[in-house]
Amino acid sequence: MRKALIAGNWKMNKTLAEARELVAGIREQIVKINNIGDVDVLICPPFQLLMPMAKAIDGSCIMLGAQNAHHEPFGAFTGEVSVSMLKDAGCTHVIIGHSERRRLFGEDNALLAKKVRAVLHGDLTAIYCVGETLEEREANQTDRVIRAQVAAVIARDISSDRLVIAYEPVWAIGTGRTATTEQAQAVHAAIRSQLAEIYDLAISKKIRVLYGGSMKPDNAGQLLQQPDVDGGLIGGACLSASDFSAIISLAASVSK
Ligand code: PEP
Repeated sequence: MRKALIAGNWKMNKTLAEARELVAGIREQIVKINNIGDVDVLICPPFQLLMPMAKAIDGSCIMLGAQNAHHEPFGAFTGEVSVSMLKDAGCTHVIIGHSERRRLFGEDNALLAKKVRAVLHGDLTAIYCVGETLEEREANQTDRVIRAQVAAVIARDISSDRLVIAYEPVWAIGTGRTATTEQAQAVHAAIRSQLAEIYDLAISKKIRVLYGGSMKPDNAGQLLQQPDVDGGLIGGACLSASDFSAIISLAASVSK
């Protein structure tokens, strides 16, 4: 079975003092969770916090990820950070293609394909985000859009071992509006069947597909119970130790 992954995307939030307090709070709460070993826990702070947070999580089960990476290994790319630098800072995961990167920073599928390859080539896990806008959903374009986002980036020659997909409907991110369990499960199942076409059925069953979009303690339980929802990519709720820990606890208690 797929082990649940609960990942917190801190976005551009937290000073060092605030970050230390948040991680201390998460550590304190998750040690009380039964079956915590059944869940992978990941925090993705902004770049300036990666090294201190690597220290702050030391000795816990929490893993460290980044929110973006450049696809080139080094060079004249002012303001950018490479995969090997992230690895050096203690990261094991990198979020690629978050809808805010696509929308606000013009990252397209072609660029994201390079980034995913760079992350996997650097032996880190790529969490590749896909999702439709509200207009696309209302125009019944959800399947087509998600299929195109997956097809443009995920190919048979890409290692599936360290690949995670995050389905994040753009209209649900930071809006308080969550996909229904049926909507989420339908898209997750479609992604998995596309992964079976790209790789094969056995591999598709091993790749985790996370849900993201206003996941909170009061809706996470139902979403996480869906057969093809293998965890969550959490924005707003991961900035609170109690909310993030509550979602982790729900993931640990789900039996599928
Ligand atoms: C996100 O940014 O990946 C996200 C899912 O945000 P929120 O949980 O706040 O909707």
